[in-house]
Amino acid sequence: MSKLLDGKKVSELLAKGLAIKVRKLKNKPKLAIIQVGDLEESNTYIKKKLAFAKKIGVIAIHKKYPKNARENEIISDILKYNADVSVHGVMIQLPLSKGFNKNNILESISSKKDVDGLTAKNTKLLFDNSEAFVPATTKGILSLFEYYKINLTGKKAIIVGQSSLVGKPTALAFLNRKATVTVCNIHTKNLEKETKSADILVVAAGHPNLITKKHVHKNQIVIDVGINILPNGKITGDADYKNIKSLVRAITPVPGGAGPMTVVSLFQNLLKAYFGAKKS
Ligand code: NAD
Repeated sequence: MSKLLDGKKVSELLAKGLAIKVRKLKNKPKLAIIQVGDLEESNTYIKKKLAFAKKIGVIAIHKKYPKNARENEIISDILKYNADVSVHGVMIQLPLSKGFNKNNILESISSKKDVDGLTAKNTKLLFDNSEAFVPATTKGILSLFEYYKINLTGKKAIIVGQSSLVGKPTALAFLNRKATVTVCNIHTKNLEKETKSADILVVAAGHPNLITKKHVHKNQIVIDVGINILPNGKITGDADYKNIKSLVRAITPVPGGAGPMTVVSLFQNLLKAYFGAKKS
C-alpha cells in the first residue's frame, strides 16, 4: 500500500464516474445549499461545493441568509425544497450563526433529501447498521479505505474527536464494519497511550499538531480530518504530517486527504437521493 492516502486523486477518479453518470441524465440532479451568516470558512467550503457541482454537471443553488434571518423563514424555504421534485438534496452548511436552533432547522429537511445524513432518521439508520445517507466526511473515509483495500474488520480504531458531524458517525460506521472502536475527546486521559494502541487512527479535533511522533507507531494508518487555518493563511491538519509520515504505514495529507473525499461523498449522496426519488 502507498504511504500517501491520496484523497485528491481518489476523489478525482470518483468525480469522473459521477460526471459520466450525470451526463446521461436528462433532468440534472439539484442540490440546495443553505448558509446562515457569513463565516469565512463556510464561504470557502461552499465555493468548493459549487465548483465541484459545476465540474460534474449537477445544479447547485446557494441560499444565503443573514445572521438576523428568522428561523421560520429558513424552515419554510426548506419545506418548499422538500416539496419541489426538481430539488433532490438539501444541506445546511454548519455551523449556523448563534441563536439558531440547529436541530429545528436540520430536522425540517426530508430524510430522503438529507444528503449530509444528519437528520434523526438517517442517524438512526446508521446506528442500526442500515446505512442510508452516511455523513460526507465519514463516507469519504470509507471510500478511501475501499480504494486502498483497507479492511476494518477486527481492527482497533481510535477516533480523536466526538462531534456529531465527524467523530460519532465515523465511530458508528466503523462499528458497522466490525472494528473495535474507541472515541477520545478533550478530557481523555493519556491520549498518547490511546492513539498508540490503534491500527487505524482518525483525528478530527481541530487542533494543529495534536498528533506527534509520540502518538503513532509504524503499522498505523492515520486519517487526518482536521482543517486548521494558520496565521500565515496556510492550511494544516491535526497531525504533524511532516514528522510522522515516514514513521507510519500510511497517512492522509492536509490539504488533499479527507477534504476532497468529503466533497465527492456529498455528491455521491446527491446522486443516491436522485435515484431514490426516481424509484419512489
Ligand atoms: P468539533 O469542534 O465539533 O469537535 C472537536 C472534537 O475534538 C471534540 O469532541 C473535542 O472534545 C475533541 N478535541 C478537541 N481538542 C482535543 C484534544 N486536545 N484532545 C482530544 N480531543 C480533542 O469539531 P468537528 O466539527 O468534528 O471538526 C474537527 C476538525 O475537522 C476541524 O478542524 C474541522 O475543520 C475539520 N473538519 C474537516 C472536514 C473535512 O472535510 N476534512 C469536515 C468536517 C470537519
